[in-house]
Amino acid sequence: IVEVHAIHASHGGTEVLHGIDLSVGRGEVLAILGPSGSGKTTLLRCINALERPDSGTVRVDGVTLDYAGHVPGRSILALRRKTAMVFQSYNLFRNRTALRNVTEGLTVVRGVSRTQADRTARQALAAVRMETYADRYPSQLSGGQQQRVSIARALALKPDVILFDEPTSALDPERVGDVHDAIAAVADSGVTMVIVTHEVRFARSIATRVVFLDGGRILGQGTPEEIIDHPSSPRIAGFLRHVS
Ligand code: ATP
Repeated sequence: IVEVHAIHASHGGTEVLHGIDLSVGRGEVLAILGPSGSGKTTLLRCINALERPDSGTVRVDGVTLDYAGHVPGRSILALRRKTAMVFQSYNLFRNRTALRNVTEGLTVVRGVSRTQADRTARQALAAVRMETYADRYPSQLSGGQQQRVSIARALALKPDVILFDEPTSALDPERVGDVHDAIAAVADSGVTMVIVTHEVRFARSIATRVVFLDGGRILGQGTPEEIIDHPSSPRIAGFLRHVS
């Protein structure tokens, strides 16, 4: 459902992705692992056109952006409609309740009626066990609960793929488990996901496939067993020893 081909991307004149090819099938949970600065976040942001690669193509469910030529704004919008992103820092509206944070995208961007949006939002909040917090404001929620609201917000949009950018790295250690459980529950419902994470054990438990990025290149990809339990490259083995 996601196809990335020959993506090169730069920051400030320095190339940080050196030709990435990647595909994610419907229902797959792809974990992207790799050292700090290897380009994981950049790759994720290229998938939903939050960042513009220098060249290459990105396709999500039939919408193709080819960066060799002019990329029309309406193609970018079409592609964004097929994706939803969960950020490290939740990015909730402070002055809206959990429920309104979830309904906002549905009513404003998707044009869904308030009644239908409320129903969908409450289902999404229930999926991450946040239905009883619907009327709380972000300041009345823990970091883990705020992140679960932001997962519900992504889920409610019913995107083809949810992109997670280090979803637990801003949380206190004791809050991480609840967010991991919420992501696992969403994965179990068959939603396609791409997850950038530092948490190898979490990746091991949730991913159907793992990609290891190093220095802007894919160093290995395969099942969690292949990449995490039996890494073929000494570089990957070294990284895993270091983080676990
Ligand atoms: P981390 O695990 O630390 O978040 P990462 O693997 O996600 O790292 P990226 O954030 O994609 O890596 O960064 C890749 C490279 O691009 C790094 O060398 C980083 O310093 C650089 N970079 C990232 N964002 C910017 C930016 N906005 N401006 C300039 N350089 C950037």
